[in-house]
Amino acid sequence: MWFRRDLRLADNPALVAACAAGRVVPLFVLDDSTPNLGEGHDYAIGGAGRWWLHHSLEALRASLGGKLLLRRGRAADVVRAVAGEVGASEVHANRLYEPWEMASEEKLRDLLSLHDGDTIIPPERIRTGSGTPYKVYGGFWRALAEQLPPDPPVAAPDVEVADLPTGDTLDDWRLLPTRPDWASGFDWTPGAAGAAQRLVDFEDEVAGYARRRDLPGEEGTSRLSPHLHWGEVSARQVWHALAAERGEKFLKELAWRDFARSAVRAQPDLGWRGGRAGFDALPWRTDAAADADVTAWTRGLTGYPMVDAGMRQLWTTGWMHNRVRMIAASFLVKHLLIDWRRGAAWFWETLVDADYPNNSLNWQWIAGTGTASQMFNRIMAPLVQSEKFDAGDYIREWVPALADLPDALIHDPPDDRRGTYPAKIIGHREARDRALAALAKSRAT
Ligand code: FAD
Repeated sequence: MWFRRDLRLADNPALVAACAAGRVVPLFVLDDSTPNLGEGHDYAIGGAGRWWLHHSLEALRASLGGKLLLRRGRAADVVRAVAGEVGASEVHANRLYEPWEMASEEKLRDLLSLHDGDTIIPPERIRTGSGTPYKVYGGFWRALAEQLPPDPPVAAPDVEVADLPTGDTLDDWRLLPTRPDWASGFDWTPGAAGAAQRLVDFEDEVAGYARRRDLPGEEGTSRLSPHLHWGEVSARQVWHALAAERGEKFLKELAWRDFARSAVRAQPDLGWRGGRAGFDALPWRTDAAADADVTAWTRGLTGYPMVDAGMRQLWTTGWMHNRVRMIAASFLVKHLLIDWRRGAAWFWETLVDADYPNNSLNWQWIAGTGTASQMFNRIMAPLVQSEKFDAGDYIREWVPALADLPDALIHDPPDDRRGTYPAKIIGHREARDRALAALAKSRAT
């Protein structure tokens, strides 16, 4: 059983098949080579993801009675070598959609039995009338809805683990940050038990999701994203747990995850190639001043409280509220005129849920470069958004220097805060004009 991002025993079709064949060698491979696609496109697991993986593998190993084989190297080579070493009669895995994961699957085509365990409905089953993948979400959702409900989740099988050859220890992999330990503020419980607990907790909240999901100051969303990314709970399990709880709006958001997988399957280079040719000509800023602006953005020092609160939440917890991700991303791309790929790379490094399909699709959606949206000229106004989505308490939590300000001032603090909080990196109107001029210029070329 080649465990990948399906770090669970329940509702794991590959594991069920492996157990049906007899004693199992559970293998996880840390592969930092295959995701390096060259030309600067390196999708090795980022820092926050590595923290999560360490703890999730500890939990998986415990659930397997302490027996999990860890090896490091090119996944396709390692899986083939281990299969030979232990005399495996069958090798099972759940399918993934990242280009590097599909490349490993292709190299193992003669050996590997692949199963569908990642999505609500496998993306190849959601097709337009002419058999092509959907380019926009609305049609995708309608087609997916016709195939609901998904198959019911299957229970965890009895896993009889074989004697394992020697492998690495988790400590060998040094996945946890040390100097500095910037993950000390991560308040998560990686692993299937943590995922199950979060799902149970959210069952009580899901009825209020549509009303609360856009308010960053409230815990109105599920925070299941890292658990889903690492496959500690399956999308099908989540669907079945919440479908009966008046969770339609939530399920529609969950299906964006399926849509992103479908999009990456159709366009594997979604992480770096825009779907709209015209945007290649956008004059992104690349000079030293732009670099300084990127640094200010990553540190939450832009002078826009909602953006800064979000960027600090990200650094401290490895997660950011979706509404704030949208505003912070839009701010980088449009107010600062920085190439969306730089922002996506920072998220890749710092999110515990960093996920190639979701991150790529959403950055392109915000930037307006993807096939699914034309958002570039919709410039989000961070100060207005902050007020509209009632971000006062959220800002108070993440930007303590502004905590004493009343609601009327906190979204756009007065100048006398300058000792403790920076001035705006650029004025909104000035930024808006610059972005629209850049867009006009790119259209003209
Ligand atoms: P909930 O609102 O509770 O949603 C439940 C689940 O549905 C999520 O866990 C997620 O799996 C899925 N989902 C919800 N919204 C989206 C969406 N817009 N796109 C895809 N799936 C969605 N999500 C990631 O999982 N990984 C990423 O790397 C990522 N990068 C993003 C980058 C940007 C610029 C933006 C705007 C969004 C990004 N998202 C990403 C999507 C979204 O912000 C997160 O999935 C969500 O905030 C996770 O919190 P939650 O689990 O409480 O979400």
